[in-house]
Amino acid sequence: MGGGEPVDGLLAKHPPTAIVLTHAHLDHVGALPVVIRRFPKLAIYCTEATARIATLVLGDTLKVTTMQGQLLFSADEMKSTLERLRPVPYFTWVSDHGFAFTLFPSGHLLGAASVLIESGSRAVFHTGDVSNSVWAGSSRRVSPPLGVRWPLYGTQTSTGPSLSALT
Ligand SMILES: [Zn+2]
Repeated sequence: MGGGEPVDGLLAKHPPTAIVLTHAHLDHVGALPVVIRRFPKLAIYCTEATARIATLVLGDTLKVTTMQGQLLFSADEMKSTLERLRPVPYFTWVSDHGFAFTLFPSGHLLGAASVLIESGSRAVFHTGDVSNSVWAGSSRRVSPPLGVRWPLYGTQTSTGPSLSALT
């Protein structure tokens, strides 16, 4: 059994209907066409700025991988992926897929967002990558969160903003 099989099994049992893209760095968008190849109906939610930057990043990725002869995805697959982008403004509650989410500025990159994901009475706040110098809250209260995901690069340390920043 390979390391990816449990995730593959979970995805086969419960195919995703949406992706919330926190920002457009290559490590977050570079393989989106591969994901869309497997799940062609996925909606990809992100901010408008992230959608625009992702378009540039995927175009550059296609060029570089073509020049290197290591094509990860085709131009048609990139086009299909870009058509799945659904820009939404920060602080907008979206509930089209059996769960709800709201994007909050994270300050990591132009258009970068942290995301509050809500389902029933449960909530998870996922930061994506985040910068501490810029953080914007909202008047929405998070109570109680199921968990806070706080990924950072291995060389960085941070306690990050507290959830009170959201109240
Ligand atoms: Zn990043």
